[in-house]
Amino acid sequence: LEVIRGIEPRVADAIGAEIEDQRASLKLIASENYASPAVLLAMGNWLSDKYAEGTIGRRFYAGCRNVDTVESVAAEHARELFGARHAYVQPHSGIDANLVAFWAVLAARVESPALQRAGVRQVNDLTEEDWAALRRDLGGQRMLGMSLDAGGHLTHGFRPNISGKMFHQRSYGTNPETGLVDYDAVRAAAREFRPLILIAGYSAYPRLVNFRVMREIADEVGATLMVDMAHFAGLVAGKVLTGDFDPVPHAQIVTTTTHKSLRGPRGGMVLCDDSLADQVDRGCPMVLGGPLPHVMAAKAVALAEARQPSFRDYAQRIVDNSRALAEGLLRRGARLVTGGTDNHLALIDVSGYGLTGRQAEAALLESGIVTNRNAIPQDPNGAWYTSGIRIGTPALTTRGLGTAEMDEVAELIDTVLSRTTPGTTKSGQPSKATHVLEDGIAKQVAGRAADL
Ligand code: PLP
Repeated sequence: LEVIRGIEPRVADAIGAEIEDQRASLKLIASENYASPAVLLAMGNWLSDKYAEGTIGRRFYAGCRNVDTVESVAAEHARELFGARHAYVQPHSGIDANLVAFWAVLAARVESPALQRAGVRQVNDLTEEDWAALRRDLGGQRMLGMSLDAGGHLTHGFRPNISGKMFHQRSYGTNPETGLVDYDAVRAAAREFRPLILIAGYSAYPRLVNFRVMREIADEVGATLMVDMAHFAGLVAGKVLTGDFDPVPHAQIVTTTTHKSLRGPRGGMVLCDDSLADQVDRGCPMVLGGPLPHVMAAKAVALAEARQPSFRDYAQRIVDNSRALAEGLLRRGARLVTGGTDNHLALIDVSGYGLTGRQAEAALLESGIVTNRNAIPQDPNGAWYTSGIRIGTPALTTRGLGTAEMDEVAELIDTVLSRTTPGTTKSGQPSKATHVLEDGIAKQVAGRAADL
């Protein structure tokens, strides 16, 4: 930090403050974790200075032998860990991984004479007519994914993301009574909509998805099953999700981030079968620029860590902790979407405390508990204010907290939420954004949170 401070002290201070913040608070954001020192060190080095567009052994730049090594090692660990035929470790993030996958499926599945000529090296040969034909052939394809309020992700065909502009999208939700995925409804929607891509995977669904059934549905309507396992990749790696709940044997293409439950560096990855491998490898330069060799090195280290027996124990403890936290909250009267959890996350319906998600998120943050607000199914408060708080246990589990501590965390969350009331606007109207937390509670809870 001293080296950085000599050049730009504000950045050094922010890094130092971030370490303090992360140590002093309880990190319950379901998509965050703490990468190991080995992963962090693999990212901060000279590999960062290298350009390496292309794929292993076929680069557009000279001098890539060391990048070839780290990319090969990362891909090898990914294949072995997940039992995948092919792994592509270049995507810079989860969104990028999904873009690579969309392109690969479009390129492999959509018949387009223009596209036949659009291989990476011939792209400059395309005429204006070819380009027009390409756009016509690839445009207007259909994608079926989980709705946002049921826990789906923006990249699964929603308007604020390019996927919603590239594809005609339809969503499947969850059963309004149980909150669970209704496979008959997914099948009915697939039969009617006939998507090119059926996407499974989520950011905020607290239960398991049966990928065998999803593949049957995809096959029935001629769709490619793509699973975005960004959130639960660590549980797949740790063999907590196996059989019907492991997406890799069932989906033709699987995408993930590497920084959530998988506990690696911030980045993305694509796993696929042989039929899509060539197209996936064209991710750069089709939708990605030069890969980040230092991040691929950190992915290799994280994947090697995830292949160690201790990672299985870690993955199991994530789920044990998640269940313990959910049970602790339920015992104290909290309402949880679907009534509990089977994975690493749970969704508290904070309308039970008379709050919006935004109010609850702010009150918890003030008390040293970092969460994020999240829409719940049929959310009356929409995606901005929301009625939910999403909580997840990958980070606290990395810190070594166990089920006994989870009960205490549940106690702290319940204390804050039950001592918070909605605030008012300047003109005295009820506000969905502001909150009032009883005096002294924030300090008391933050102190207990810091001791955990
Ligand atoms: N897919 C899912 C299911 C996610 O939850 C997320 C991130 O929250 C992403 C993709 C995007 O990942 P990134 O933020 O790395 O682009």
